[in-house]
Amino acid sequence: MSWALVPLTDQQKEIQQLAREFARREIAPHADKWDRDAAMDPAIITKLAQLGFLGMMVPERYEGLGLDTVTYLVALEEISAVDASVAVAMSVHNSLPTQMILRYGSEAQRERYLPAMARGEWLGAFALSEPEAGSDAAAMTTQAVRDGDGWILDGTKAWVTSGNQAGVILAMARTDRPGERRGARGISAFIITPELEGFRVGKKENKLGLRASPTVQLSFDRMRVSANQLLGQEGKGFVYAMQSLDNGRLGVAAQAVGIARAALEYSVRYAAERRQFGHPLKEFEAIQFKLANMATRITAARALLYSAASAKDRGEPITQFSSMSKLFASETAMWVTTEAIQIFGGYGYMKEYPVERLFRDAKVTEIYEGTSEIQRIVIARQLYAK
Ligand SMILES: Cc1cc2nc3c(=O)[nH]c(=O)nc-3n(C[C@H](O)[C@H](O)[C@H](O)COP(=O)(O)OP(=O)(O)OC[C@H]3O[C@@H](n4cnc5c(N)ncnc54)[C@H](O)[C@@H]3O)c2cc1C
Repeated sequence: MSWALVPLTDQQKEIQQLAREFARREIAPHADKWDRDAAMDPAIITKLAQLGFLGMMVPERYEGLGLDTVTYLVALEEISAVDASVAVAMSVHNSLPTQMILRYGSEAQRERYLPAMARGEWLGAFALSEPEAGSDAAAMTTQAVRDGDGWILDGTKAWVTSGNQAGVILAMARTDRPGERRGARGISAFIITPELEGFRVGKKENKLGLRASPTVQLSFDRMRVSANQLLGQEGKGFVYAMQSLDNGRLGVAAQAVGIARAALEYSVRYAAERRQFGHPLKEFEAIQFKLANMATRITAARALLYSAASAKDRGEPITQFSSMSKLFASETAMWVTTEAIQIFGGYGYMKEYPVERLFRDAKVTEIYEGTSEIQRIVIARQLYAK
């Protein structure tokens, strides 16, 4: 599919080619099996790291590639077009924990965590949601209580992507006291590592899509963390999480564009091969119109995504554009993958054909890192912001 509307630099084209070839060679042959088994080979994470794809926006002084957001998203779209489960591990790691440590961490925290994360020794996870606090994440109840110069954490985090594989988990917890709640200002961010006493990996979710990506519950049972595991300032954790989700939502949008693009490419090919009434499907106007609408929406989603990412790279505020981009790209992915199944007809509904996995994988892009309803709330709120 043409990228003509998004002018890439020579370096971005090189990274795109690298990611595309890697995805086709190392991921594509296994993606269906990993989906069936509900587990990817963990070696793929090491291979991503060897390419530098786990430290894409981490500065070179912390062993990252030091690239901009656009270049990172170009690579992420390529991985997503082949396997959205591998892509979500890469997206969460690059967009959330590494960026949070880079942006809000102390120099000692950056030096301690970022090089090992960029090398892929520690995969990153992000634990904001709880069983009773999803869209209303500030209603979380996980509690951190001061204990000498450290903290004791108690509570349960829900749906943590890569939570059972992660070496570093950015977890948000309340640091206000039960009788003196301060809402979102009573939440702090902690850098959690899995060897801590009281850290438990709970239930692994059985999901509709992204089946090869582990989504787990994490519980903290009188888990003691030291003072140097608090990220930034006490009481700022919710703000850090929300600011980081501006990056994260661009990652989800790139994932959605990748899924949608794959569905279109399969559909274009299938419509040329499959014959009914003595003609290939592509000669029927009804099918041509579907393909045209799919291509148009994907091109628009990509143009919005890369405009938002360029704005971020210029240092401009992107909260609204990031939400618009995620909203438009995720609804595009859901719509395009539905149309792809229609073009494939009965075969589209079968596991042997690729579009049913894309359809299942697309759905979650409308849910995580803020549902489509929440994105609309963010966008509308910005319309009234002074
Ligand atoms: C596969 C997967 C991976 C995930 N990974 C992570 C992760 O790594 N880390 C993490 O912290 N979380 C993760 N999540 C959690 C995800 O971010 C939440 O599921 C999401 O924020 C929605 O919360 P909820 O599921 O509790 O839905 P709810 O908040 O209960 O919402 C249910 C419905 O009500 C709507 N709704 C809620 N409030 C409003 C409102 N004010 N106005 C209008 N509509 C509203 C929602 O849009 C939705 O349609 C993951 C989820 C999934 C499914």
